[in-house]
Amino acid sequence: MKPLISEEDVQAGVTRMARQVSACYEGRPLTIVGVMTGSLVLLADLIRRLELPLRVGVVQASSYRGGVKRGELAINADMMPDIQGRDVLLIDDIFDTGHTLTQVIALMRRLGPKSIRSAVLLSKLGRCQVDMRPDFVAFEIPDEFVVGYGLDYRDAYRNLPYIGVLEPADLVDDSA
Ligand code: 5GP
Ligand code: MG
Repeated sequence: MKPLISEEDVQAGVTRMARQVSACYEGRPLTIVGVMTGSLVLLADLIRRLELPLRVGVVQASSYRGGVKRGELAINADMMPDIQGRDVLLIDDIFDTGHTLTQVIALMRRLGPKSIRSAVLLSKLGRCQVDMRPDFVAFEIPDEFVVGYGLDYRDAYRNLPYIGVLEPADLVDDSA
């Protein structure tokens, strides 16, 4: 595993993003929705830095199903709070092709929020396949498979306090 963003830098990035979010909503109430499970660590750190009246909920979206290959996206909104008429900030760990955020936002729009913005810790350069971009991005990163700070490989490494790049030797071959 090769370190990419140190714990110190991750924390500084989250603080920077929290200031941008706070400035955007100017004290208005906000409903934060985290995309589980990857956004868990960012969600916990970010909300403690926001000086806004907040409600927090989660939505589950999984496309990678444990490995690094894309599968079909499954969205479970059973734990989503009521967002009708509310300002909503959707949080995810990483923006890669953009399909996850695009599809979750499309689902949420049907629930009648006043506004929807999105915030991610990481955005991969040159990978986007959709015509939306997150409103808040803490770090742009090269196109490599990263883990840590909520991001997993087969459900491991989410608890690393830094972002690391998984090296080929760390990957399990599941083509067989
Ligand atoms: P997208 O739908 O934008 O292609 O991918 C977003 C989702 O894919 C993220 O929520 C995350 O779960 C997963 N993902 C994309 N890139 C990476 C990566 O480099 N590492 C890990 N662990 N997950 C990733
Ligand atoms: Mg995810």
